[in-house]
Amino acid sequence: MPLYDTQTIKIYNSLSGEKEVFKPINEGYVGMYVCGPTVYSNVHLGNVRTFMSFDVIFRYLKHLGYKVRYVRNITDAGHLENDADEGEDRIAKKARLEAIEPMEVVQRYTVDFHNILNKFNFLPPSIEPTATGHIIEQIELIKTIIDNGMAYVVNGSVYFDVHKYNESKPYGILSKRKLEDLIHNTRALDGQSDKRNPQDFALWKKAEPQHIMRWPSPWSDGFPGWHLECTAMSTKYLGEQFDIHGGGMDLKFPHHECEIAQAEACNDHSPVNYWLHANMLIMNGKKMAKSTGNFILPNEIFSGDNPHITKAYAPSVARFFMLQAHYRSILDFTNNGLLASEKGFFRLMDAINLIEDLKTSDSSSFNVSEWKQKCYDAMNDDFNTPILIATLFDAVKFINQIKDGSATITKEDLGLLKETLENFTFDILGLVNVSKESTGSDKLSGAVEILINLRKEARQNKDFALSDKIRDELAEVGIQLNDSREGTTFTTN
Ligand SMILES: [Zn+2]
Repeated sequence: MPLYDTQTIKIYNSLSGEKEVFKPINEGYVGMYVCGPTVYSNVHLGNVRTFMSFDVIFRYLKHLGYKVRYVRNITDAGHLENDADEGEDRIAKKARLEAIEPMEVVQRYTVDFHNILNKFNFLPPSIEPTATGHIIEQIELIKTIIDNGMAYVVNGSVYFDVHKYNESKPYGILSKRKLEDLIHNTRALDGQSDKRNPQDFALWKKAEPQHIMRWPSPWSDGFPGWHLECTAMSTKYLGEQFDIHGGGMDLKFPHHECEIAQAEACNDHSPVNYWLHANMLIMNGKKMAKSTGNFILPNEIFSGDNPHITKAYAPSVARFFMLQAHYRSILDFTNNGLLASEKGFFRLMDAINLIEDLKTSDSSSFNVSEWKQKCYDAMNDDFNTPILIATLFDAVKFINQIKDGSATITKEDLGLLKETLENFTFDILGLVNVSKESTGSDKLSGAVEILINLRKEARQNKDFALSDKIRDELAEVGIQLNDSREGTTFTTN
């Protein structure tokens, strides 16, 4: 019997605003779509948090025996600076500023995205499709929406007719908005716009002459609207109706709302059964923003090279820290929080490392089976990782008691304890059992700093053979030096 038959998951569905029992459309199979990054800059820690939430959900569903098809896209075209279909394409803008090809921007930041996620020990999704790889599918969707009377063509662009749609289906169903309120709260069109109403959104935009990211279509040489790609790719790989759609809270409106409207306009039914939204990440109680300096890049957590933290942290420590908050709660990223998590993380690892050497007895003073079910109960309750971690620490306490002789365990229970603890810690939470010595400890940072300074001296003396040797030999032992205008930092892998 598969594990999923013995465990009942309840998921908080943003659409209903309630926790609902999870029942996939096809028994034993789960289709999950998560909106991926727009690859025009280094991945934001807040996005890492969102993707981590879904990585854990993916891992747990797989652990329960489901065959999961997890699709997470890469947005490499069509995402404009402004949600109201205005401004430059974010990737084209970056390409213009740096005088490189848009696809160079895409390549650079896709590689960065994968590197960071690998360091955090993410599982790759089953399919990672790109918007530019699905232009034909997007054009086909637009044709259907036009045929169904829910979109109109003006000057080579195509817009979704929100007002027409709202006559038969409620627009705003996910974000709990009403069209009347939206009309009140949106500024009027400026006369330049081709839209009939400001609430309408672009399905296809005619490209201005200077716009280099363009494709032919029945309406104009242009590019698809941002919201459309997710409908095209989720439908293609998961079907007209699938189980789980996830993303950051900020995508609920308008992005996900528009996805629902597009799919309804094409297929006349709701595309998704469970909508999940991960909450924000803030830093030191405030919104994280480059412009205010209240900002940290994921890599800087691993190198310690950021004024907001006092030391480098291992990726698994940062991962553990993030999972100590439930995905629907705001997560406040602070150095003190990380320091506390680091202690907790190593307490957990120390206990796991101890298990092999524990002595067994004729009886157990701890109900391991009951504890095991508590671990499942935590994850079954809307993937509650903080409760799960607290439950894992019940076992840590018990392990330490066995060690000092104040508790006992049978051989059979010890096997079950070890298996369960490892399943939840490594397979489901995705932590890695790193030792304290290998985790960017202060001693390691100190030693690498000495080498960085020696290399700097070598370069000043134009001894490039030596400086390259230092860099290459550090790389061989897994320490990468990263040069930038601000100086040299290092990351470990
Ligand atoms: Zn999306």
